[in-house]
Amino acid sequence: MLLLLIASPPLKARSGGDSLASLPDTIWDFYPNYPSYETLMAQFAALHPGLCRLEALDTLSSGRRLLALVISDHVDSLEAEPRFLYTSSMHGDELVGYVLLLRLAEHLLGKYGIDPMATALVDGLEIWINPLANPDGTFRNGNNTLNGAWRYNANSVDINRNFPDPQDGPHPDGNAWQPETQAFMALATTKKFNMSANIHGGAEVCNYPWDTWSQLPADYLWWEYVCHRYADSAQAYGPAGYFNDFGTGVTNGYDWYSISGGRQDYMNYFHQCREFTLEISNTKFPAATQLPTFWNANFRSLLGYMDQARYGLRGIVSDSLSGQPLHARVFIQGHDADSSHVWSRLPLGDYYRYLHAGTYTLTFSATGYHSRTIAGLGLINDQATVLDVKLMPTSNGVTGPSGPVVRAWFDPLARQIGLEEHASSQGQARIEIYNSAGLLVLRSGMGNSFSLPAALPGGLYLAHILTAGGQKLIVKCLSP
Ligand SMILES: [Zn+2]
Repeated sequence: MLLLLIASPPLKARSGGDSLASLPDTIWDFYPNYPSYETLMAQFAALHPGLCRLEALDTLSSGRRLLALVISDHVDSLEAEPRFLYTSSMHGDELVGYVLLLRLAEHLLGKYGIDPMATALVDGLEIWINPLANPDGTFRNGNNTLNGAWRYNANSVDINRNFPDPQDGPHPDGNAWQPETQAFMALATTKKFNMSANIHGGAEVCNYPWDTWSQLPADYLWWEYVCHRYADSAQAYGPAGYFNDFGTGVTNGYDWYSISGGRQDYMNYFHQCREFTLEISNTKFPAATQLPTFWNANFRSLLGYMDQARYGLRGIVSDSLSGQPLHARVFIQGHDADSSHVWSRLPLGDYYRYLHAGTYTLTFSATGYHSRTIAGLGLINDQATVLDVKLMPTSNGVTGPSGPVVRAWFDPLARQIGLEEHASSQGQARIEIYNSAGLLVLRSGMGNSFSLPAALPGGLYLAHILTAGGQKLIVKCLSP
């Protein structure tokens, strides 16, 4: 549809050069060089102005950009719909996903209004597609060649070890946050994605949280379900033996090998975004002629995983008197742990909680409102359940316009103190913990959460939190 490319040998980036032209269907059997990539991304937006816009997340010092396509019906207005992210090739030599995500964008835009699944996804989601998360690593030896493509960025840092880690702190690799890392942290913070996948190569498996520690995520049944859906379909439509690492093509991250500073855990823990790591090809950088085979094996799975973002529990949380949308915490009793709760998102108050089939008890809470618990809610897989919730203000007065609400809480199951993310510029809040005798027992910096040390004797403690904005919060904590 977009691009005619001159012939060149496999394993080289091909240039669009002056030969760009419109075709009815692009044969995606090439790796676009950097200028062609920029052109393609701009063309998607230019050709589909109502459905697609191009966003530059950052311009690196090399001049290369971190780009994302946003695809949705009414792409320029905010709608109460899940926000979904696909991103690929943060390891610059793992390149199948680079081409597959470009082709996915073309598929969604070209088949909108024609194919029911593409139409449902574009109508029902706000889709972000970032095909090339580390262009300096991919085009290390120049914009027109993939010779020399490597895993790291221009500073020789592995971006997938460079994110804040729920266990090992803000800088688990000892490096400053890289420009690519900072761009994604800013994107995650502002956009509050609901689901995502981060595409790599070197294996063929769906890797779900956690990578950093051994305990399973609260939603491991849901993870198992969606990952097996992905893998089963990839196996069915791929060549014999494709996508069968670990036998089934699915693994828990820690069961495979533990990493710190990965983006998957960062997104899940700090942003309540369900992200898994998709290892899409045993060969990181196969011959370009094989790319259509990878597409055929994966496109149904890629669409199917996006489709899961439309299911589960969703709704709007609002003030029972004024109807004003609320930023509320949605917590599942006896289930949520390790930051698996979600938040409703302002300005619309919409929330999305992906859950495996079962019966759940939910508590909705927001500062200045009476919490509300709804018990015995039954959910089934592959279906959306809508639950709009109104919360009653604790004061009888009408709530006026308010600035950012800053909240902190203690999660006794996880033994963690949580701080609302917009209150904490990562790592800049301070925490002091006092025992019941009023003695200071601990002082530290904190990001969005702080775990009570296991060594703390049992008892009641008071945590004093001083936010970067100078607000002081006191949270009562119980160490069992
Ligand atoms: Zn990788």
